[in-house]
Amino acid sequence: MSELHDLMTAFAAIGSTGDGGVCRLTGTPADKQARDLFVREISQRGLLPRIDPIGNMFGVAMLMPASQDIVMVGSHLDSQPTGGRFDGAYGVLAGLLAVQALRDRAIANPGQARRNLAVVNWTNEEGARFQPSLTGSSVFAGSLALEDAYACRDGDGIALGAALDAIGYRGSSELEFRPVRYVELHVEQGDRLERAAADIAAVSGAWVTRKMSLVFEGEVAHTGPTPMARRRDALRAAARAIEALYSEVEHDNAGAHAAAARISVFPNSPNVIAGRVRVWFEIRHHNEAVVLATSNRFLERSQKEANALGVEISMAADEHRETILLDPAGVDLVHRVAGDLGMKALTLQTVAGHDALAIQRRIPVSLIFVPSEAGLSHNPREFTAPDALDKGYAVLTETLWRMVTAAS
Ligand SMILES: [Zn+2]
Repeated sequence: MSELHDLMTAFAAIGSTGDGGVCRLTGTPADKQARDLFVREISQRGLLPRIDPIGNMFGVAMLMPASQDIVMVGSHLDSQPTGGRFDGAYGVLAGLLAVQALRDRAIANPGQARRNLAVVNWTNEEGARFQPSLTGSSVFAGSLALEDAYACRDGDGIALGAALDAIGYRGSSELEFRPVRYVELHVEQGDRLERAAADIAAVSGAWVTRKMSLVFEGEVAHTGPTPMARRRDALRAAARAIEALYSEVEHDNAGAHAAAARISVFPNSPNVIAGRVRVWFEIRHHNEAVVLATSNRFLERSQKEANALGVEISMAADEHRETILLDPAGVDLVHRVAGDLGMKALTLQTVAGHDALAIQRRIPVSLIFVPSEAGLSHNPREFTAPDALDKGYAVLTETLWRMVTAAS
């Protein structure tokens, strides 16, 4: 499907990091450039462009003008600072081509389509510049208030609302249709499909995630003459906590995934013992009890280690993402389509967060994975073979066709 590969190449050039990857943080010039190109592609293909107040972008195909109902397909065009070219962009661009192809198919088969269809690019899925992640899809689903989303600030204090204004993507009205289903095609970002030599995964649910951000309060002092015994070193306490997280997870051996991937240090000077450090921790597992037990052991141990160093710990954020079950009928449909197309399909749970997980609070969703080579993602070397991309596109298109033509 050379058109898909050409589109992927065109978008990979926007915010290119020169090493195969992309950096397209929400509300930046690179985000604007990707959005501008997406609008052009929507219009050139005869779809109707729409932008809602949080900057979610839609390209609508009126397959059944008498109906208010709309099936949606999409993902996100923003990326991590070290993003790969497939994460998100694949789902948006395959969705764009699928909507165009199905519009043509509906014209060639009059009377078959019963509802409308739209491709969507959700704002700030990654949460790299503005937290929380899944911002646009959460506003659309009604689980995040628009004003709260606008007020999210980046590291320089710039609010998301102002950033959207600055790039011209703060829309003025909600999508005028009634969403009935959402489908997202995404690279797996893990290695389970590859290990099973399978083509497609129908995602049945999501792992439980606990994201904790801890603040370590010590005391600033000269790194040289200050007597060792009187130091209250916040960075040292943070280092012990980071190691405590990994060792609890490894010791438990239950298969949980954990990381401490962001740190801020005050005053961050080589000559001043850190007085205040904040670290972002997360732990994921399909079983909530494992997440709770492991994270609580980690917290207890960190507290004990910090006490011994004269450092105080406080919890700045503690976010639980509960286990999610996706619509089983959607899982069955993806399996039937993959089977009809002669592909090998698995059922998996997603470890990573996706817009589909936000949208499932409002309407039934289907999340479809294609293999990621070596399970590598959020990395410039993220890769999925062209043939695997084509298979995902084929499953996506047929799944959407059955959704827009189904009797109910
Ligand atoms: Zn993604």
